[in-house]
Amino acid sequence: ARRSAVARARAEIDLAALRANVRALRERAPGAALMAVVKADGYGHGAIPCARAAVAAGATWLGTATPQEALALRAQAGLPDDVRIMCWLWTPGGPWQEAVEAGLDVSVSGMWALEEVTEAARRAGLPARVQLKADTGLGRGGCQPGEDWTELVRQALRAESEGLLRVTGLWSHFACADEPGHPSIAAQLTLFREMTAYAEQQGVRPDVRHIANSPATLTLPEAHFDLVRPGIAMYGVSPSPEIGTPADFGLRPVMTLAASLALVKQVPGGHGVSYGHHYTTPGETTLGLVPLGYADGVPRHASATGPVLVDGKWRTVAGRIAMDQFVVDLGGDRPGPGAEAVLFGPGDRGEPTAEDWAQAAGTIAYEIVTRIGSRVPRVYV
Ligand code: PLP
Repeated sequence: ARRSAVARARAEIDLAALRANVRALRERAPGAALMAVVKADGYGHGAIPCARAAVAAGATWLGTATPQEALALRAQAGLPDDVRIMCWLWTPGGPWQEAVEAGLDVSVSGMWALEEVTEAARRAGLPARVQLKADTGLGRGGCQPGEDWTELVRQALRAESEGLLRVTGLWSHFACADEPGHPSIAAQLTLFREMTAYAEQQGVRPDVRHIANSPATLTLPEAHFDLVRPGIAMYGVSPSPEIGTPADFGLRPVMTLAASLALVKQVPGGHGVSYGHHYTTPGETTLGLVPLGYADGVPRHASATGPVLVDGKWRTVAGRIAMDQFVVDLGGDRPGPGAEAVLFGPGDRGEPTAEDWAQAAGTIAYEIVTRIGSRVPRVYV
């Protein structure tokens, strides 16, 4: 009777599944601590509830990209103080002092960052927790091997001897861990061992050495070191088709994206549907209006390919996905308005998965879940 409470659309977040996924990942890497990666609002699932659930299931670290994300977790998530929070995407002039005062572990890839963090530590009167990042082959962030690395290690140790920081970690990130057997994987591991060994010979005593994202956590035990950093797998989504399905690893998708049909109507054959009339009804049929669009993260590129479960059957997006809505052709079926349209979920009620939407849109499942817009309420179940 409380019709106003019925949401147009919702992203259901199954935190029990997330907790089970964290436990399954810990079993895959029994000798390592687990850093739950909750950047980008927990890959679209909600950073704070996911962080809490991950910690409840045994994660002892949380990872974010930006310092703002990490500071918000520290201030708002109500986590035990001994849960370590690390962030790695810094720009000059970033909130280093707040990070030091909040006890965050901060990534440093080069001299400018080391200088800014030591200056902040001086102002704060507290040692910073610094994790030195090596570029072992990703070719993105991280310090280059060779002289850049030896100089960074030397200066970090000097600042450590002055009590301005503690080098708490040595770390790196893979380029191709989602392509099993890719030659860069072994090359990165070799270089990571060399760069960490060099730093340790010089006197660095890191709490943790780490390089493993989800695919490496799932498939490369030799890459686990002291800590693994899974993101996508924790949300029950596969890193890539080559790695396998979530079920292959005992993982369960956490997010279900569903909406109530806003309109169901009969139209004659030859009826153009949505902007540009890229779909024309082949004969008299029933159209259903799904109240979700690209502003909600439904990829416009999946116009004509995106799958939706309505009334027990897969339907395909008919015509272009618009900002707030799109149409499915229901053929001969006539569900009532308000019937449920499931875009993706775990897949065990016959619905498509985030991986299916990734394929339909020519992208990766990471992008499907992280882009679900803020207009879609997250409902924790
Ligand atoms: N570590 C770092 C530095 C990352 O940027 C990411 C995300 O891209 C992860 C770990 C988690 O990666 P994945 O979601 O593939 O597990």
